[in-house]
Amino acid sequence: MLDRIRAELTIFYEIGNAMRTTLNLDEILFIILTGVTSHEGLGFNRAMLFLVNDGDGTIEGKMGIGPQSVEEAGRIWNRIASEQMNLEDLISAYSFYNKGGSDLDKIVRNIKVPLREDSGVLAMTVLEGMSFEITNEGTRQNIAHDTVLQSLKTEYFVTVPLRAKDKVIGVILADNIFTKKPITKDDIRTLTMFANHAGLAIENSRLYEQTVHQANTDMLTRLWNHGYFQYSLTEELKKAYENKKPLSMVMFDIDNFKNYNDTLGHQMGDQLLRDVARILKATCDGKGSVARYGGEEFAVILPDTPKDSAYRIAEGLRQAIEGFQFNGQNVQPNKNLTISAGLASYPEDALDKEKLIYLADMALYEAKRTGKNKVCVYRSK
Ligand code: GH3
Ligand code: MG
Ligand code: MG
Repeated sequence: MLDRIRAELTIFYEIGNAMRTTLNLDEILFIILTGVTSHEGLGFNRAMLFLVNDGDGTIEGKMGIGPQSVEEAGRIWNRIASEQMNLEDLISAYSFYNKGGSDLDKIVRNIKVPLREDSGVLAMTVLEGMSFEITNEGTRQNIAHDTVLQSLKTEYFVTVPLRAKDKVIGVILADNIFTKKPITKDDIRTLTMFANHAGLAIENSRLYEQTVHQANTDMLTRLWNHGYFQYSLTEELKKAYENKKPLSMVMFDIDNFKNYNDTLGHQMGDQLLRDVARILKATCDGKGSVARYGGEEFAVILPDTPKDSAYRIAEGLRQAIEGFQFNGQNVQPNKNLTISAGLASYPEDALDKEKLIYLADMALYEAKRTGKNKVCVYRSK
């Protein structure tokens, strides 16, 4: 009994410390699941974590830790024993683990079920806000048709709700699939206490990530804002330098936007900015990141893209705007709303961020000066 309480205190202490070192959600989840599975911790064979997605009313698998087969279990446990890895060592193995991603982890990350009573044990754990234990053949009958459990190949297991304040935000599922060690009442009690700590840590990290995301987002268009654009271009240029890859950046500006605003009013102007932003983002689709540089200027970073392909992408964006029927665009010259663009590339034109932006801007002025609705490329004289 005393041993058990001592072990519980140790794991709460160590996990608490570890969770305070990071606000990164993936790291927090890893620390939690390491606590559930490590020998020094709760000692389950496998642990999986699922979070509620309020957006679409589902539960999604986020991370799974533990071996997929008895052989793999043997290998992992031998390694842990031979290297005498304690909880702290296991937690700091995060970056190592994160690169690989086990089979179990992949299966868990593919799980997504609606938050409904008929969705099975995971959903029930959230909806009822209580733990479920399937620890003998009798109770197993109730879950014979649970497809999620089938995909995890779990037999006897326990689920516990993850709580943040008065809300259930997810579920931990743990089992002893390899050792077949029976799950005791004490195991469940400790896991429940642990899940309450874990729930709060997850919620804090999610709030933090939301705040960071908001701080980097332009409220009108939902694109990245100027600050994030600057940060992101610095980072991408570092990567381009390290990997010896080119990078291009394009600066866009709406043509005769003042006329649109003055004729139709600023609220229509705001809506137009949202529409242009949406089209640029959709058309860019994975090839680069789009930011609102300023009022009616947009900047696109195209990593790993030399000038000629960047030109084709920029032309595609220009044409997408030219071809779209914007509300009220007949007040514009040629009854069409258009944009102009300037393009410059690393390392061809510039080696640093300031110069790259400056040259893309110069090329944009060239496009404006020579008739608008076109993409100009920076060319050294
Ligand atoms: P050009 O083709 O040379 O770019 O001409 P332009 O009229 O687009 O350029 P100008 O710089 O004269 O006008 C930009 C206008 O963009 C002026 C400003 O009122 C408007 N603007 C900037 N930010 C916003 C915004 O957030 N909402 C609205 N509605 N208008 C904005
Ligand atoms: Mg402008
Ligand atoms: Mg303009």
